[in-house]
Amino acid sequence: MEMDQLVALCKRRGFLFQSSEIYGGLQGFWDYGPLGVELKRNVREAWWRDMVTAHNELEAPPGAPEAYEMTGLDCAIIMHPQVWKCSGHYDLFHDYMVDCRESKRRYRHDQLYGRWVEAKGQRIFVATEAGGEEGLAETQQKALKFFNLRSKEADELAWDGPLVSLTTVKDLSRVLGPNAKQLGTLTEPREFNLMFKTIVGALGGDEDAAYLRPETAQGIFVNFKNVLDSSRVKIPFGIAQIGKSFRNEITPRNFTFRSREFEQMEIEFFCHPKTSAAWYQYWRDRRYRWYVDLGLAGDRLRLREHEAAELSHYSCGTADIEYAFPFLPAGEFGELEGVAHRGDFDLRSHMEGKLIRQGDELVLELDAEGKPRYRGSGKDLTYFDDLTQERYTPHVIEPSAGADRATLAFLCEAYTEDEVPDEHGKPTKRVLLRFHPRLAPIKAAVFPLVKKDGMPEVAQEIYQALKPHFNVFYDEKGAVGRRYRRQDEAGTPFCITVDGQTLSDGTVTIRDRDTLRQWRVRKEDCLAEIRQRLNG
Ligand code: ATP
Repeated sequence: MEMDQLVALCKRRGFLFQSSEIYGGLQGFWDYGPLGVELKRNVREAWWRDMVTAHNELEAPPGAPEAYEMTGLDCAIIMHPQVWKCSGHYDLFHDYMVDCRESKRRYRHDQLYGRWVEAKGQRIFVATEAGGEEGLAETQQKALKFFNLRSKEADELAWDGPLVSLTTVKDLSRVLGPNAKQLGTLTEPREFNLMFKTIVGALGGDEDAAYLRPETAQGIFVNFKNVLDSSRVKIPFGIAQIGKSFRNEITPRNFTFRSREFEQMEIEFFCHPKTSAAWYQYWRDRRYRWYVDLGLAGDRLRLREHEAAELSHYSCGTADIEYAFPFLPAGEFGELEGVAHRGDFDLRSHMEGKLIRQGDELVLELDAEGKPRYRGSGKDLTYFDDLTQERYTPHVIEPSAGADRATLAFLCEAYTEDEVPDEHGKPTKRVLLRFHPRLAPIKAAVFPLVKKDGMPEVAQEIYQALKPHFNVFYDEKGAVGRRYRRQDEAGTPFCITVDGQTLSDGTVTIRDRDTLRQWRVRKEDCLAEIRQRLNG
């Protein structure tokens, strides 16, 4: 599948629009249309139901070391600025960017690749935004142009090594930027904090600066004590939150994959330090299975453990759940969710102040005068176990997913083209979205075969009977074949059609989106039939 086809379908059928499109759009911001809003709600609701409300705290699910509790939160987007100082985001949540003086383009330093090449006595580094095969082809084209060579003179280019990251290049004066004609137009990399800054209050100055949260997790940590005191939960337990996060990404791209405003679905799971390694394994596997159960399967989904060198300063284990999005070069995967063992880093940071790693220890970061660089809340965020009489700072396992990336992966996976016979039996191309029924924006569509003979009245009756239970759609316009095709494109798993036979024997046909199989049921059994099929 070409990504362009999916993007066009999303716009045509109302899944996704560019934000403020009539004004030319705003890069990195997206709006969900009538079908998109239902799809994303279903993703969020499936997550909340599977992780929180349907979770049975009396029984340990398969793979879990013991039974546990789950609860939820919904925190404010703007929090006390000290939260971000202690969490490390204020100092450390940045990317490096480079600007091109010639093309005026801005790039993320770690997202540029390139190759060293020598020709006509000059050795240069040809940079590109593309990785893999595409990057190789692009660097070749650019090098030919730069050295004024024709394609058949390509063997005059002496390549030195494979495609590597621009971060490996020390001397930028020999770099040919991705959109530049001259050498040395890229600036030295500069740090850029990804948090959106805002001012609180009408008279506010810079001392009233606050930040739009770049993750939902910190709201959970700072409410740890409130949840403990108000809900009688006992360790092990998890707190879940779904909400908007904001990151001023340098290069938002790949549709909604890298947006500046997006939604996260995060769990902070609090456990005893002795069992935290087992809980990490459990959450990693459980979260991977969730995507599989909702239809992401096969070789496009993978679970990747981070190498020790890749781990954050506080983490003793992190795995990414990744999907081979079609906009990535062959063989590359993009992150859907990170599952991290965070130790006691977060709770201690909010008690003590900003922590840094010294050898194997986490210690308070001090300023030049030997005082804490950022003070924590000073509140006691430890846990006391009544049974064992033990007091400790819980360890945290964090499965952190993106609702928009998950929605995009489900869209990519669902997009299918096949050939089906039209009304006259001639094979015609069909585009369909094979969503898992739980995720489908519309669960069933109801059609009268023709707009006469009392068929619309019966179809309306069925539509009204189903409507209180799930999202259904009524359509009586145009040829029935076209109506089926429109529902296939929307990903509707079932179409119910009232026809001539309905008027004599009270049965209707139900058509399956994927197999095209049709069968008859009594019209008053539609609700039970669809409900049973939606529940698998
Ligand atoms: P990346 O490396 O792709 O920038 P990250 O490792 O910074 O992602 P986390 O901080 O672990 O991401 O955030 C958890 C989840 O939030 C990600 O797995 C992703 O699903 C989602 N997410 C993060 N940044 C964005 C973004 N800019 N747009 C959409 N979703 C995002």
